[in-house]
Amino acid sequence: MVHLNRRKILQVASIMGPTFLGNKELNAQLSCDRPIRARLNVTENPFGPSLNARQAIAACISKAPYYIEDESELRVKIAQYEHLKVEQVGLSNGSLDTLSLLSADIGRNGTIIAPSPTYSTHLSYAQRRGITVDFIPLKNHKIDLESIKSAITSQTALIYLCNPNNPTGTVLDISELFSFCMEISTKIPIIIDEAYYELLSNFSQKTVAPLLNKNADIIVTRTFSKVYGLAGLRIGYCLAQPQRIKQLYSLTTTSRNQAGYAAAQACFRDSNYLQGAVNYLNSCRNIIYKICRNNRLPYLPSEGTFVYINTLRPAQKMKDALMSQGVDVRIFNDPNYLNWIRVGTATPQELKFFEVAISNIISNTTK
Ligand code: PLP
Repeated sequence: MVHLNRRKILQVASIMGPTFLGNKELNAQLSCDRPIRARLNVTENPFGPSLNARQAIAACISKAPYYIEDESELRVKIAQYEHLKVEQVGLSNGSLDTLSLLSADIGRNGTIIAPSPTYSTHLSYAQRRGITVDFIPLKNHKIDLESIKSAITSQTALIYLCNPNNPTGTVLDISELFSFCMEISTKIPIIIDEAYYELLSNFSQKTVAPLLNKNADIIVTRTFSKVYGLAGLRIGYCLAQPQRIKQLYSLTTTSRNQAGYAAAQACFRDSNYLQGAVNYLNSCRNIIYKICRNNRLPYLPSEGTFVYINTLRPAQKMKDALMSQGVDVRIFNDPNYLNWIRVGTATPQELKFFEVAISNIISNTTK
């Protein structure tokens, strides 16, 4: 006979999906001490890898004993899609690897300018190496290209832009971004982080990558970690001028891993899969929007795998209260967003936990 203890019941419930538990049962669960039930602090895609990627991962086991010595096949494939030369495409272990290595190496010639709040793991990496990062506030929740331009000094060695921006999920007007890159990159290299770009409708029209054919010194970073659902296999790529790609490879410490490389080859620009993943992520974002509306919380419509929410209450207090109910969210240390939390798209089951927890907390937390 199968013995179903409380833990087993909860495990089964999480597999069954959100319909298995009603709000009453969830409330009962939330009221007791438990480990994290909803990992809404991350921005990965729980939809997971495409079928082709899954098969490729299984099929590459025979290659596991060996290092990858030649990664040109995937570089060529990406170059063809982007209408670039293979020398303009580099691979790295997640896009964070490219972001960190190039930020630290280019940044050591001076300072870095970046918006705030934004994705900043690589900027912290550069700061830990003694590089100063000048953060420029957003305007109307968007990256303010004019203010960034005004902040440039003779010391500026690099500019970092994230489009769509994490955590706001806002996008830059593509023609404004084109003009900015063409003007500024003649003097200062610009990283444009497009980690979430496949979520944009007609995404191939929303990238600055074509400017590489006009000699712009831009570094476009992309990843298989988000929409392609391969975060754990650490593979990303970068599009840049050949000398920047050489610079990247000269800094890289290790090769790609077989599983990540095989999976990336199998799913790159798989339009059926992308459509399914995007539909899934959109539906999760819609669930979050609805939760916000039901609780009268302002939020920013997002183009990323997360939604930035104004809780109208101190964000740290909200984060702690949510955490005590097993729901983890992310906050950013920015003076203009002290009431805001970032909620990852996660699974509908996890969002159900969030829905119950946030309405409980809001009724008990003062503004
Ligand atoms: N860029 C942005 C905007 C991100 O949000 C992240 C991860 O959260 C990354 C880059 C790094 O992702 P990865 O190294 O998995 O490609």
